[in-house]
Order: sequence, then C-alpha cells, then structure tokens
Amino acid sequence: MDPAKRASVGALSEVRDDVRSETHLEEQVKDWLRYGEDLGLAPYYRDRAPLHAIESATARVESHNVATASTSSAAVPAAMAAAAPGRVPAAPINVAASPSASQKPATTSTILPATAPSLFEAIERIAGDTLPRIREDIGDCTRCKLHKGRTKIVFGTGNPNADLMFVGEGPGRDEDLSGEPFVGRAGRLLTDMIKAMGLQREDVYIANVVKCRPPENRLPEKDEITTCSPFLMRQIDAIKPKVICTLGSCSAQTLLQTAQGISKLRGEWFDFRGTKLMPTYHPAYLLRNPAAKPEVWKDLQKVMAVLGLQPKKR
Ligand code: URA
Repeated sequence: MDPAKRASVGALSEVRDDVRSETHLEEQVKDWLRYGEDLGLAPYYRDRAPLHAIESATARVESHNVATASTSSAAVPAAMAAAAPGRVPAAPINVAASPSASQKPATTSTILPATAPSLFEAIERIAGDTLPRIREDIGDCTRCKLHKGRTKIVFGTGNPNADLMFVGEGPGRDEDLSGEPFVGRAGRLLTDMIKAMGLQREDVYIANVVKCRPPENRLPEKDEITTCSPFLMRQIDAIKPKVICTLGSCSAQTLLQTAQGISKLRGEWFDFRGTKLMPTYHPAYLLRNPAAKPEVWKDLQKVMAVLGLQPKKR
C-alpha cells in the first residue's frame, strides 16, 4: 500500500475508534440515567446544589464548643468491657459538646471534610422524603446480584427521628433471616455500646450500606454499594440525625468517598452534608480484637458529648 493510502486508512480507523468510544460513552450515560430514574433519583439530578454549596459542604467547618467531658468516663463500660483486657488512660479527652443557643464557642474544634465532594454531597434532598416511601421504592429489589441470595431485605430499624444513626456495612446471616440489622453477635455488642451511652436501641436508628446479605459475609462489592447506597442517603436525609456513627471501613469509606483505612479515620469528626460523622470500628472487629474497645469507647464518648448524653450508671 502506498504511504498516502496507508495514512488515510489509519486516519479513518482512528475516526471509527473515536466514534465507537463516543457511542460507548453515550450508552454508559444513558444507562446511568435510566438507573437513576429507576431508583427515583430524578430530583437529585435536577436542580443540583450550586457549586458554592458543594464547596462549603467540604470546607473545614469551625463549630461547637469544646468542653471536657466532665461526666464521661474514659474506662470501657462494663457491658462493652467483657473480655476487654485493657483500659484507656484516665486522662480526660476533649470532646465537642452540643452548643446551646446562648453559649458562644469558647474554642473551636475542627471537623475534617470528606476528601472530595461526592455524588452524595452534590445531590439535592427529596423534599418530604419518608422512610416508608424509601422502603416502598426499594420494593422487592433485584437491582444488584445480592438479591439472589437474600432471605429478607434489611431496610433499617429504630427511631425515625433519631439524633444518632449507626451505619454498618451489610446484613449477616441472622439479619438476613430476621430482616433486622445488627441482631447477631456483633449486633448484641452494638446494643451494649448503645446502652453504655445511656440510650436504648429504640432511641437510635440503625441501617447498613447494602440491604441484602453478601454471600459468606464478604464485604459488599463496589457495584452493590453504588446500587444500594442512594437508599441509605435518602434514609439519612429523612431521619436528619445530629450525628452519624459509621461502623467499620465500608460505611465510613462509602459516606466519605475515601479509600482511607478505618484506623486512620476513626475518632475524627467529619462533615457529611452538614451532619457530623464519627467513624469507629465495627463491633465484629471488636469481637475479634477486644483490645480495641477502649478506642471505640473514646469515639462514642465524643458522640455523647455532642449529643449531651450521660454514660449509663453502673
Ligand atoms: N454487620 C453489619 O455491618 N450489619 C449488620 O446488620 C450486621 C452485621
């Protein structure tokens, strides 16, 4: 083939490749939009938050009085402490206390932003969304492969007006059978943690990133998280908790859109779309590593200080 002809054939095939990849991209966008429609997310894609709102959502937030938790004990509470070999040092920890209207901030604490504005930070809330409506939208879900192995969808449970919301990763065997989150061994430890904070399970709301059990209790996969987590976002928006406490790496990484490990994230305040978020270890991790309980208790004490909670009297 003469060089001029070869060059023009090469150029033609480049054009074809470009057209193919544009068509592919267009198909991907169409799929994504269809998927959004299917989830009832159209309002999220319309009227997106203005850029400054997104920026402010991720900006460092100065807030809250910082007060010493005079009432909080640094020791692990008895219910949590079973099998905990160690105790945290008795030194007081600084906590962010709930500001009263009349109080001026004495000092400020820093709430770390999520590392980048996520889809969740950029989306608008569905006005008047409710938990029953979200449950109805989930329906008898077959949106991801997890539906194939599930017995029951584990939507979430607790006080729909809770100040505190716990978010785990996904149902295990007991949860899959009962339809309730955190009812197995890890769940019983979570219940003890809640009680140690001076609350009952019914006072808080408990949900997971994915609503169906991953096989063999494996971590939820990316496509499953992407499919299911918009429902979690809607639950958070409907409940409007004052504090979200994420349990383990999956929920922290999903809500904060970060790949940072849980040991780096835990114990720090983050801002999640205007709500304070405290990552801590998963109770299942604590069952395997009871020595980490004092760290979790420290994290929970920070949450208690913000919510003005007193630890349960022994
Ligand atoms: N682990 C979770 O993350 N969620 C549950 O509901 C149960 C165990």
